[in-house]
Amino acid sequence: MSEHQHGSGRCLELAERLSEFVDGELPEPLRIEIEQHNDECTKCKKFVESLRRVRDLAHLLPRPELAQERLRRISEAARRRLES
Ligand SMILES: [Zn+2]
Repeated sequence: MSEHQHGSGRCLELAERLSEFVDGELPEPLRIEIEQHNDECTKCKKFVESLRRVRDLAHLLPRPELAQERLRRISEAARRRLES
């Protein structure tokens, strides 16, 4: 089964949920779907990696709300890159 759904539509849809994915807050079916998508899609995989990195850094910061803000900005920038 290899439905290679390329095109940023799918990526954008998933990108909406990637920060929850990184936080482990997604329900199982969606989580698996994203994992499978990331096996085929380098763009989304890289996106998740950068979100993870920022999230890990966030734990080290004294001001979590600033990290949240930065995380949001990075994820927006990444999403914009997916769109182009
Ligand atoms: Zn993708």
